[in-house]
Formats: sequence, structure tokens, C-alpha cells
Amino acid sequence: MLTLLFADRIENWPAYEPALKAVLSEAGIAAQILLPPVDPASVDYIIYSPLGPVQDFTAYTNTKAVMNLWAGVERVVGNATLTQPLCRMVDEGLERGMIEWVTGHVLRAHLDIDFFLTHQDGLWHHQGHVPPLARDRSVVILGIGALGGACATTLAGLGFNVTGWSRTQKALPGVTCLSGPEGLRDALSKAEILITVLPNTRETTDLLNAETLALMPKGAVILNPGRGNLIDDDALLAALDAGQIAHATLDVFRVEPLPPEHPYWAHPKVTVTPHIAAETRPASAARVIAENIRRFEAGEEPLHLVERGRGY
Ligand code: NDP
Repeated sequence: MLTLLFADRIENWPAYEPALKAVLSEAGIAAQILLPPVDPASVDYIIYSPLGPVQDFTAYTNTKAVMNLWAGVERVVGNATLTQPLCRMVDEGLERGMIEWVTGHVLRAHLDIDFFLTHQDGLWHHQGHVPPLARDRSVVILGIGALGGACATTLAGLGFNVTGWSRTQKALPGVTCLSGPEGLRDALSKAEILITVLPNTRETTDLLNAETLALMPKGAVILNPGRGNLIDDDALLAALDAGQIAHATLDVFRVEPLPPEHPYWAHPKVTVTPHIAAETRPASAARVIAENIRRFEAGEEPLHLVERGRGY
């Protein structure tokens, strides 16, 4: 009998308990799932989130893996007490959520929906307001991994002219794929709508800064459902005020919740959403966890193992 420790916020247990028990039983995995406090030496797997009770992994001497319930690992990847393998969450619920949030906000910008919401004033605003077709709209996605890649192919499927950028060269159907510093410059220079779905690492910090924002076409729109560190906030505010960037929809911030006094809240060209772009869904996440436990127990290659050195 395996022992799993549920180390997420206790409020999430009622949703995860039935989901985990159902999939473990379906997979034929005999396991008990415990809530803290437990004897750390008895724990085979930790189902983890950075908001849960485990911060120090030292005493978990027999733990075979830590399974992060989040896609982002920046709050655990550098933990010096973590010597066990770390898996991140890639699940269908996160992917569908990200696709829907991104598609909604891309269409909002593409169709200039905000204009019509604020100009129902008795005037027939036809001239200059017919939207281009999606194929004539250049959308760029920085980060085309599990989430950004799914958004890229979905937007390409809607007809958008999509370019994706990543660290290593990728190939996605219907998407122009770029990589490296030169690729970033090319991508930014045509980004009418820019979406950032990169992880928070040293290399991605302040990727959007005064210099890179200036490479974008004047009046471009930014959507950031990735992480707050990707954007130099002062540079973005300056670019918005100068009209270089027309609008930014931001879901993630350096400090969350975004402090009430932060200039983003009151800025007329910023939309703040409270880190809701994609949420881990217990039913689909539980399946990934069960499959990974099966793989560890069978000595097979685990899914979504984090490369500690690169930080994601
Ligand atoms: P993946 O690891 O699957 O993809 C990350 C992508 O970023 C890859 O294409 C990777 O390139 C690229 N990348 C990483 N570092 C660099 C770099 N230095 N230069 C260029 N490209 C780089 O992650 P996911 O798609 O699953 O998740 C992405 C992020 O989305 C998460 O880390 C998290 O921050 C955020 N997120 C936000 C949520 C929200 O609700 N707002 C919810 C869930 C996730 P390569 O393919 O070459 O490795």
C-alpha cells in the first residue's frame, strides 16, 4: 500500500479527495492519501502546491517524487531541501482553460470589442471599424510549450497568422516557429497581438522591457497569462502612456494579489484579471498524478519531469 501526502491548501481537499480516490482505484493502485501531520519517512509521493504546508522536504527521505499541482514551478524549483524528482502539472483542464482565456482576449482585441462597449452613443461608427480578417492579423506567442503551443494551434485554426517563439526550435501545424534572440526580434516586430506564456526563470525575467517593447508595431496589444516577471512594469506603463502599446490584459503579476495601490488597477489601457487564465482541474489533474505514480512504480519514464537546471 502506497502512502500519498496531500500537501495543497486544505480547502482543495474536498474536490481532490473523490477525484484522486476514483482514478487510483481505476488504475488499480493501492494507496492511502493522508493529510498532514504525517510521519514524513512514510510518504511515497507528495501531491504538492506552494500554498500547502510542506516547505522543507528534508525529512521525506523515502519520497519517490513530488507532484506539483501547478504548471509553474518557480516557487519550488530552487528549494535546496528538494532532492526528490519534481513533476509539474500538464493537464487537459489547464490547457482548455488557457485556450479559452487567450482566445477570448485575442478576439476581444481583434474585433475591437472594447470600442463598441464604450461607444453605443447613437452614432454609426462604421468608417474605420470593420475588423480585418483573422488571416490578416499577426498574433505572436512567446512560449509554445504545453499551454502556449495549444493556444497557437487553436488560433491558427481560427485563421490567425500565428508566430510562436521558444528556447529550442519547434514545429507546430499552421504556426511559424522561431527561436533564439534573432527569432525574438523577428517575432516582436510583427506582433500586433502578443501573448506571453513563458515560465518564470532568470532568463525570462524582464523579457518585455523598454527595448523589446519598442520593437513591436505601434498600437500593439499584449496579453500576459504567463508570469508577472516577464514584464518590466515601469517600461510597460511608459509604453502604454506613449501609445506604443494600445492595451495590456494582465492575469499574472510580480506580487499577487496585485496591491490596491498598483498603477495597473486604475490605468485606462490595462485590464487586470486575477490569475484566472487557467486553473488545475481536480478530475483531469488526478488522472495525470495516477498515471505518473504508475510510471514511477513500474520504473518507466515519468511524465512532465522538471529540469531543475533550466528552471522549468
Ligand atoms: P512548458 O514548459 O510546457 O512551456 C514553456 C515554453 O516556454 C516552452 O516553449 C519553452 O521553450 C519556452 N521557454 C522557456 N524558457 C525560455 C526562454 N528562456 N526563451 C525562450 N523560450 C523559453 O510550460 P507550460 O506551457 O505548461 O506553462 C507555461 C507557463 O504558463 C507556466 O510556467 C506558468 O508560468 C504559466 N501558467 C499560468 C497560468 C495562469 O492561470 N495564468 C496557469 C498555468 C500556467 P522550449 O519549448 O524550447 O523548452
